[in-house]
Amino acid sequence: METVLPFFEQVNLNFDKAGGYTNYPPGLLEQIKICNSVYHMTFPLKRDDGKIETIHAWRAEHSHHKLPTKGGIRYSTLVNEDEIMALAALMTYKCAVMDVPFGGAKGGIQINREMYSVSELERITRRYTYELIRKNFIGPGIDVPAPDYGTGAREMALILDTYNALTPDKLDALACVTGKPVEQGGMYGRKEATGLGVYYGLREACNFGEDMKLLGISPGLEGKTVVVQGFGNVGYHAAKFLQEGGAIITGIAEYAGAIHNSRGLDVEKVESYRNENGSILNFAGAATIKNPADALELECDILVPAALENQITSENVHHIKARIIAEAANGPVTPAAHDILKKRGALIIPDTYLNAGGVTVSYFEWLNNLSHVRFGRVGRRFEENSRKDLMIAIEKITGKRFSEEEVTQLVHGPEEKTLVNSSLEDTMSVAYNEIREIRNQHIEGVDLRTASFIKAIHKIAISYMELGIFP
Ligand code: GLU
Repeated sequence: METVLPFFEQVNLNFDKAGGYTNYPPGLLEQIKICNSVYHMTFPLKRDDGKIETIHAWRAEHSHHKLPTKGGIRYSTLVNEDEIMALAALMTYKCAVMDVPFGGAKGGIQINREMYSVSELERITRRYTYELIRKNFIGPGIDVPAPDYGTGAREMALILDTYNALTPDKLDALACVTGKPVEQGGMYGRKEATGLGVYYGLREACNFGEDMKLLGISPGLEGKTVVVQGFGNVGYHAAKFLQEGGAIITGIAEYAGAIHNSRGLDVEKVESYRNENGSILNFAGAATIKNPADALELECDILVPAALENQITSENVHHIKARIIAEAANGPVTPAAHDILKKRGALIIPDTYLNAGGVTVSYFEWLNNLSHVRFGRVGRRFEENSRKDLMIAIEKITGKRFSEEEVTQLVHGPEEKTLVNSSLEDTMSVAYNEIREIRNQHIEGVDLRTASFIKAIHKIAISYMELGIFP
C-alpha cells in the first residue's frame, strides 16, 4: 500500500527532478523551492445559535521573486498547513510557466461551507480578511487572493468590501482580490477561465498528430471520449467547453457518485438537472455509479480530474484506462502514480500548466483594476471606424456591396470577453508549445510535468540572478 507523501513533499519531489536538469547552485534551487512565509491564524466564530467555535485558517506566500503574490482561497475540511504550502508552491510554478508576473500564494479556511449559514460565512470571510490586513498578507502590490475550491465571487466581494473599509488605499483597492463579481471590478470570463483553459490546453495537446500516434489515438479533440471527475466550477466548465469543441463526455463524477453513458451526456442538461435536484445522480439516460472513485476507472480517451489532490495513487492507477490524464485540479496524481502512468505510455498534462487559465485571467482582472479602464474601451470606436473605411475602400475598388449583415459582423470592435478569451487561448497555446519543446529537447526522462518545472525554475532563477546574490 502506498503511503501518500505529504502534498508539499510531492511538489518538491517534482521540483528536485527538474532541478537535476539545470546547472543552478543548490542554494538557489533551495531558495526557489522553500515556502517564504506561512501565517496560521485561529479566531472565534459565534454561531447563529450562540455557540462559540474556533476557526483555523492559513495564508502561505511561497515566493516573492515577483510581487504581488497570487493564489486562491479554499474552504474545505481538508485544508491544513501542508496543503496550503503545497498549493502556494504550485501557484509560483504555474505563474512562471504561463509568464504571469506573480509570486505564488494560497489561502485556506478549514471548514465545510455546507455546515454554515450565509451570515456565518460572511463573518468568517470578513474576519479572515481582517487577519490578512493586520499581518500585511493582502494588498494590490502585496498578495492578491482569488477563488478556489469552495469559494466564489461572493467571498471575493466580501474580501474587497472588508479591505476597503479597513485600509486607506482607495485608488487601487479593487486590485486587492480577483474573481470578483463583474459589477464590482470583476472580469467577464473569469468564472469560466480555468475550465476554458483546460479546453484550450487539451485541444492544443491533441492537435499534435505525432504525440497522439504514440498514444494510439487519432489527432484532434473531435470524437474523443472524456470522463470528468468533479463537477464544480472547473469541472463543469471544462466539460462544457470540451463538449462544444467536439469531445464526447461519457462520465461525470461528483462527491456523491457518478453518472455514465458511453454515447455521451449533455453537459448543460446534467447541470440543469443538478440545479433542480441538488445532485447529478439518477440523471435520466445514464447509469448511476454509487462510488465516485469508480468513475476514474471508466474506459475513455481523456480523464480530467477536476476536484482535489491525491485522486490517482498507486492504489488505483492500475485500473485507469485513459490514455491522456488532464490535470484540471491541483496535484490529483501522486508522484508514484505518475511514474506508473508514464511507464505505461500515458500522456499527463500537468496542473502546473493545464489549470493556469484561472490565474491568467486573474492577471487581466488585476491589470484592468489598476488601469481603471476596461479592455477595449479606448480603441474600440477607432477600430470600428477604420474597418468601416477599409470596407468602403474595398467596395469602391471591387464595385461589390457588402450586405448589412456582413458589415455588422466585420466592423464590430472587440468586446472585453472576446479579448480576454483570445488572450487566454494564446497564452495556453504558447505555454504548451514551450513545455513540449523543452520535453522534446531532452532525449529521455523528461515528461511535460518535469518540462514545466524546468521552465519555471529558469524563469524564477533569472529574477534571483538579477539581484546579483547568486553567481
Ligand atoms: N485558485 C486558482 C488556482 O489555483 C486561481 C488563482 C488566482 O486566480 O489567483 O489557480
